[in-house]
Amino acid sequence: MAIGISTDIYLDANATTRVLPAAADEAMAAMEELFGNPSSSHITGIRARHILESTRSLVRSVLGAESGQIIFTSGATEAIQIGVFSALVQAQERRRQGLTGERLLLYGATEHKAVPQALLHWNHILGIGNQVLAIPVDSKGMLDLGFLREHAEVADIVCTMAVNNETGAIHDLNAVEQALRNSNEQVPWLVDCVQAIGKTPLCLCETTVDYAAFSGHKLHAPKGIGVLYVGENTRLTPLFAGGGQESGARSGTENLPGVAALATVLQCLEDETDPTFKDQQTLDSYRERIVNSLTLALPSTVFNTPFDKAVPTTINFSVKGFSSKEIMDLFDAAGIRVSSGSACGSALRGSYVLDAMGLPRWRSEGAIRISFGLTSTESEIATACERIEEAGNALRESCLIVSGESRIHSPTADDGLIQLKHGSMCTWILVDVETRNCVIIDPIEELAERIENYVRCNDCHVLAVLDTHLHLDHDSCRSMLVSHLSDSVACSANSADPLGWPEHCDGMATLGDGSEAEFFRVGADEVVAKTSLPGHTADGQVYLVGRLSADSSLCPDNVRFAFSGDTLLIGGIGRTDFPTSSAESLYNSLRKLSKLVGKNTPICPTHDYTNGFATTLAAERKSNRLLAQILDSVAPIPLSDFLEVKNVIDARIDENESEELVCGLIKANFEQESSIDIAPDERKEFFAGHGESRIIDVREPHEFSFSQDWFAVGLEKSPENVPLSRLTNFLQPLLANPAASSDRDFIFICRSGNRSSIAAEVLRRVGVKNAWHIAGGLALGARPNGMSADSVDGDFMI
Ligand code: PLP
Repeated sequence: MAIGISTDIYLDANATTRVLPAAADEAMAAMEELFGNPSSSHITGIRARHILESTRSLVRSVLGAESGQIIFTSGATEAIQIGVFSALVQAQERRRQGLTGERLLLYGATEHKAVPQALLHWNHILGIGNQVLAIPVDSKGMLDLGFLREHAEVADIVCTMAVNNETGAIHDLNAVEQALRNSNEQVPWLVDCVQAIGKTPLCLCETTVDYAAFSGHKLHAPKGIGVLYVGENTRLTPLFAGGGQESGARSGTENLPGVAALATVLQCLEDETDPTFKDQQTLDSYRERIVNSLTLALPSTVFNTPFDKAVPTTINFSVKGFSSKEIMDLFDAAGIRVSSGSACGSALRGSYVLDAMGLPRWRSEGAIRISFGLTSTESEIATACERIEEAGNALRESCLIVSGESRIHSPTADDGLIQLKHGSMCTWILVDVETRNCVIIDPIEELAERIENYVRCNDCHVLAVLDTHLHLDHDSCRSMLVSHLSDSVACSANSADPLGWPEHCDGMATLGDGSEAEFFRVGADEVVAKTSLPGHTADGQVYLVGRLSADSSLCPDNVRFAFSGDTLLIGGIGRTDFPTSSAESLYNSLRKLSKLVGKNTPICPTHDYTNGFATTLAAERKSNRLLAQILDSVAPIPLSDFLEVKNVIDARIDENESEELVCGLIKANFEQESSIDIAPDERKEFFAGHGESRIIDVREPHEFSFSQDWFAVGLEKSPENVPLSRLTNFLQPLLANPAASSDRDFIFICRSGNRSSIAAEVLRRVGVKNAWHIAGGLALGARPNGMSADSVDGDFMI
């Protein structure tokens, strides 16, 4: 399936918006013709000043702010700073005059980060020492007004927002005002109105709001222009001193092109007959269509936006079983630009807004925000809906959503090893495509549904569900899987063994250390053998996958993959300070492992803390001095010395630094000898000099299924697809036969350059030196000047 994607559908209007063409024209005119400095007294200056003051009048009219001050700023963040600073300078004065006792700086728990960060910053800089306290919200994101009433009496500022940027939730400012003023008539009240303007009515003069912040770029004006409203009797302390512009409230020559563009946008808002911005009814109908398409395409979608109390332009949702990064990557491939609530990488982070609303962790970690602009058209929304439905179909094709009949012997079923991850935890699925036999190793509950879908959709026959040890940081879902997949599970998998080893095996193999081990067959010439590997825990096992020789021996070089739990991690060795651990056993187990597997056999860990996917003994010996000392064949480190060093290492594992239980101290930085980057402007030149390269797209198949103009992104040919979940499988033959691949280059590409850099780094770390990646990925194409895409994958909602 190749789906044509020619134009982007931009559904991230809460992050920023495209400048209205008429506004851009006005900005251009203000740069080319009306370029004067509003402070100059000659005619050019007077003309510029006219733009400034007429726009100020327009702002007053749109905001219902006949009185008070309207100050142009660089954006909402600056407007918030000035408001917070002004209020806190007053708090500082009160402190200096001898006011003691606990004082509070209150803010809504779902405020944009600009607000709590400004409070913390100025509280610290001004040395006030107040407590910065969040006002809790309910499951719809509505402020706890009782809490506000109770605490406002001792507050020096109260900050709330009109509309939330992540969920679109509308706050009832009248209700907030009543609760606040019943408790404290004087306290300065700052309202962040960034996402409200144009979407809900505002009439600031009818309120007791002291400071209100606005931003032009959220409403089709350019970046770099914002507005601060200051109530009539509210004190303002300038943050910038200088030429005295903005009546001394904000020195610095005004951004006149921005002001001129803002005027055009506000005129469109003011004029009810102007068709530029869609009316409420039209926006409501757009929302309904998108919500329907999401529900149809992704049946496990749950909406986080309280639709009865939200602007129609924001739809926040989570898809059960998917991280926000996965959905964001999929939508990006489908040509739909949305925003994700959590960043990429192994650490699972969620949306602090949804966390504050008390929504379950999976909804916070999986949050996606669709936000469309007021200028959206029927055809854009129709295309967005079509693409959402195509995205759903791509997930069905990849067996990630299973609906209706399961597919029998899918032609796309994978052969070999698949790595699924949840945070740092890994589950491995070994598949023999000929027989459809599969073995599941270290299944994680969070991935259970995905594993089940995979097995059913590919019509796999599960020979065993194994754990390498009883995990201390998470529960295995082994028994649950065996019971859910009862129709696809071999009798042998219904084992009484606590780690799932089948009761009836196919024979005994002689391992590299001379010991005998039980094995069962997976395919025509592949077996899984097990032997104990205690240390990190007493019950630790290693599962060796490989080919038996005629004499039933499993030679180290014939071991294709080793699953050794947390014995050997990428960048470290397993910790041994648990009650069931033994450092002495770990020492012996590591020495044993080195006899069981080849130096280049991929070792597949239970935890991957560094996005390293898998490792080898050779790679680890190179980067881990202690391991090299343990495995030294001539003079290994004596056990007593090792025990001493290990004690010190385990004591350094600081659990407070991470939310999860870390299973070993990890050295995260592997130094590259030379750069892995092919910069955007080097693409053509690089390919000219590297004719025989293998170009590999590491996105998941459902992303890869959307077609792409490869030439436009600077590639000579269409790439192969090796998703990161198959990277270890891809590596294995390269490592087993280094000579065969030594003269070929491996060039990885992905959406932003993030995943491709990981792939190239993994190859280099395990010894495949000729690996590179295309910096900036598909996002940057063959641009003449190297733009950086560093932030493209780390997309917290803004
Ligand atoms: N407040 C809210 C609710 C926002 O959505 C944003 C935008 O990111 C800001 C404040 C900051 O606005 P600006 O980019 O103009 O500084």
